[in-house]
Amino acid sequence: MNQQNTWNRYSDKQVKETDKFAEAYMKFLNKGKTERECTDEIVNQIEDAGYVELEKLLKKKETLKAGDKVYAVCMNKAVAMFHIGKEDLEEGMNILGAHIDSPRLDIKQNPLYEDTGFAMLDTHYYGGIKKYQWVTLPLAIHGVVIKKDGTTVIVNVGEKEDDPVFFVSDLLVHLSQEQMEKKASKVIEGEALDLIVGNKPIKFEDPEKDEKKKKEDKEDSANDDKAAAKDAVKKGILAILKETYDMEEDDFCSAELEVVPAGKAREAGFDRSMIMAYGQDDRVCAYASLAAMLEVKAPEKTACCLLVDKEEIGSVGATGMRSKFFENTVAEVMNLMGTYSELSLRRCLSRSAMLSSDVSSAFDPTYAACFDKKNVAYLGNGMVFNKFTGSRGKSGSNDANAEYVAEIRKIMDEGDVNFQTAELGKVDLGGGGTIAYILSLYGMRVIDCGVAVLNMHAPWEVTSKADVYETKRGYVAFLEKSL
Ligand code: MN
Ligand code: MN
Repeated sequence: MNQQNTWNRYSDKQVKETDKFAEAYMKFLNKGKTERECTDEIVNQIEDAGYVELEKLLKKKETLKAGDKVYAVCMNKAVAMFHIGKEDLEEGMNILGAHIDSPRLDIKQNPLYEDTGFAMLDTHYYGGIKKYQWVTLPLAIHGVVIKKDGTTVIVNVGEKEDDPVFFVSDLLVHLSQEQMEKKASKVIEGEALDLIVGNKPIKFEDPEKDEKKKKEDKEDSANDDKAAAKDAVKKGILAILKETYDMEEDDFCSAELEVVPAGKAREAGFDRSMIMAYGQDDRVCAYASLAAMLEVKAPEKTACCLLVDKEEIGSVGATGMRSKFFENTVAEVMNLMGTYSELSLRRCLSRSAMLSSDVSSAFDPTYAACFDKKNVAYLGNGMVFNKFTGSRGKSGSNDANAEYVAEIRKIMDEGDVNFQTAELGKVDLGGGGTIAYILSLYGMRVIDCGVAVLNMHAPWEVTSKADVYETKRGYVAFLEKSL
C-alpha cells in the first residue's frame, strides 16, 4: 500500500490540475453553506451536464435507458443522481454517498428578544460542536423563511464585503477568573450561544433635526414615547426585517435560518497546499463525488451518487439517509427502465457496492497522544479508507468485509490512486458514525472512505488540496469498474 505523500507523486501537470480542482471546490463551498444551498448548486451543475429530474420524466411518461442521466431531490435538501449503465440495474449499482449538512447554530422558532439594549436571536446548535469555538467570530445567516402563503424568502447576509455580520459575545478575559476554571464543555453553554443582531433603538433623536420639527414630533408622540422605548432595539430589527424580507416576527416560526462562519474558503499555508473553510465535513466528499459523477463516461454499472442531509444529527428525518427517499427513487428509476419488481429492487440494492464517504481525522502533531500513529490519516497522504468507524469497541460501525476491502484495494492500485487506511483516533478516546451502516442494511458492500480533515467540526476546517483531488480520482476509478 502507498503510505506516502501525494505531492511527491505528482507531476507539474498534476499539481496544476490539483490547484484547478481546489479552486472549483472552494467556489462550491462558497455557494453552499447550507444543505439547501448545496442542493441548489448540485442541481445547477448536474442539469448543465444533462441530468433530468425524475419528476419531469414521470409527468411526461418517458422511459430510461443505458446512458441516460436522472436525478431526484428530497425537500430541497438531499439529492440522488443516477447515470444509467450498460448492465441491468438488477445487477447492482456503484454508489457514492456523502452528506451536505454541517455543524452550525440554528435560529430557534421564537428567537428574537431584547436584553439591555441588544437585540438577540436565540439559537440551538446543530451537530457536535465545541461551543467555545463559536464565540467572537463574524457569523453569517443563511436560510429560508417560508411565509404562510407558501412564498419562500431567501436569506443570505454576512458574506458580501459590505454586508453586516453577526456574533456571539464572550466575557472579557479581565473578568474571566471564574469562567476560566470551568470545564471546556461548560465554558460556553448552549443557551449562551445567542446571536447579537442589533444595538440601535428604532426611534432615536436626530441631534441635527431643527428645533421646530423636534417640537412637533414631541407633541405627536408624547403618549407613544414610553411604549416605543420598550424593546425599541428589537422593534428596529423587526422594521429592517419587514423592509428587507417582508417578514413579520411570527414568520420565524416557519423559517430555517442557519448561522455559519462568515467568509470565503481560503488557501492555507505559504505553499497554498491546504484549504481552510467552513463546512468541509462533509462537503469535501460531496463535491469530489459530484465531480466524479460528472467525469465518468458510459459506465458499465449504473453510477449513483447520494448527497444527503441530517448526518450530523443521526441521519434522521425525510432528508436523512435513514429515509426511504433513496429506496423509493431507485424503484422509480427501475420502473422507468421497465424492469421494476420488488425482487429486482432487492437484488439491485443487495448487489450494489458503495463508497460511503465522510471526513476522517487528520493526525495533528500538537495532539499526537490522541492518535495511533500507525492507524491514522495524514494530511496530504491521499484518500482515506476506514474499514470501520464507531466508538467503544467499534459500536455503531459498518465494519467493511475484508473481501470488499480487497476489491477496493485492487481498484485503487490499478487506478494509481494514493490512499491510506485509518481510524479516527486512539481506541476509547471517542469516535463517530457515518451513513455507511444504513446502506449496509440492504446487504450491499459498503466501506467508509473520504478525506482527512484537521480541526473537524470547528468553524474553520482544513483539508489538503492533494487529498481532495486524489479522492476524486479514487471515486472515478471506482465508478468505472464493474464490481
Ligand atoms: Mn461527516
Ligand atoms: Mn461530522
